[in-house]
Amino acid sequence: MRGIQVHRFGGPEVMALHPIERPVADAGEVVIEVRAAGVNPVDTYIRSGAYARLPALPYVPGWDGAGVVVEAGPGVDRVRAGDRVYFSGTVAGRGVGAYAELACCRADQVFPLPGRLSFAQGAAIGVPYATAHRALFHRAGARAGETALVHGASGAVGLAAVQLALAHGLTVLGTAGSDAGRRLVREQGAHGVMSHGDPGHLAEILAFTDGRGVDLIVEMLANVNLDGDLDLLAPGGRVVVVGSRGRVEIDPRKTMGKESAILGMSLWNAGDAELREVHERLAPGLAGGALTPVVGAEFPLAEAARAHQAVLAGGAAGKVVLGVS
Ligand code: NAP
Repeated sequence: MRGIQVHRFGGPEVMALHPIERPVADAGEVVIEVRAAGVNPVDTYIRSGAYARLPALPYVPGWDGAGVVVEAGPGVDRVRAGDRVYFSGTVAGRGVGAYAELACCRADQVFPLPGRLSFAQGAAIGVPYATAHRALFHRAGARAGETALVHGASGAVGLAAVQLALAHGLTVLGTAGSDAGRRLVREQGAHGVMSHGDPGHLAEILAFTDGRGVDLIVEMLANVNLDGDLDLLAPGGRVVVVGSRGRVEIDPRKTMGKESAILGMSLWNAGDAELREVHERLAPGLAGGALTPVVGAEFPLAEAARAHQAVLAGGAAGKVVLGVS
């Protein structure tokens, strides 16, 4: 089989198609014929070598994908050959991720893909929806009736957060940098849509809430927005830092009177049991239509380098995926 393999850390050009040994499912494992792979920003950080957790070289990038089960190892009863599935994570230590024609996963990393969703949409579920779920419910403790701001709603995690918050009865505001992004966020049903490129958007958000502020913020670019977020929070408000690409100065005094909280979030901290539970919770929404992944751009596997450029380019309007076979 073939897959994208990285032999040295560096720019997108270090990714090239290579022949790779065909995986075999051991006990408790599943081999999947990958039809689409999700491109997450973290894939680019790892590929560049500028990330705290780096795999041994060479490795095949990619965490998320969707496809058809071709082999279920001994002891696997959750799925069987022929099932349409999505997966999030592959067997650790083998150096083979999702950017390949075949992926080998632990059975508990594999979930049924509802018939209403394409493989490309399936590849957009894993990291984005688990991240959005963890940020909203595990960290921010989001409750029906509250108001959430998804600061950066046009990308993969942001759209998932908008859909999840709406499905749980929150009032949702979302921001995007482009017209296409804002249109998309509006189409999801967000109650208010603003432009994070417009310095006036903070005033617009406050005005939307009649000056009270929002109960929680899912923040995609904390190094730009965190200090302003503290002005937007209502009393008892929480901001969850999901994405940040640099340093920022904040005024901590802003947290005092409102007893607001800044909460970090890393999906890596979710254990296997928590992740399984999250995907169980996503299942009804994925099957029923409340959760519908949005694919913004699809590239062939051989053009993984272009996909990595696209995911960092800005002007997001959904998820970047690789079409595999
Ligand atoms: P993505 O699809 O590339 O989306 C990036 C989002 O950031 C877009 O909505 C983009 O909006 C928005 N953005 C750009 N400039 C912004 C600004 N000034 N203010 C607010 N938002 C802005 O990436 P993703 O997969 O959704 O991931 C989003 C971020 O979360 C990334 O930094 C990623 O590394 C991080 N992440 C963290 C975890 C974790 O465990 N903590 C897990 C997954 C992802 P426009 O393009 O419309 O401007």
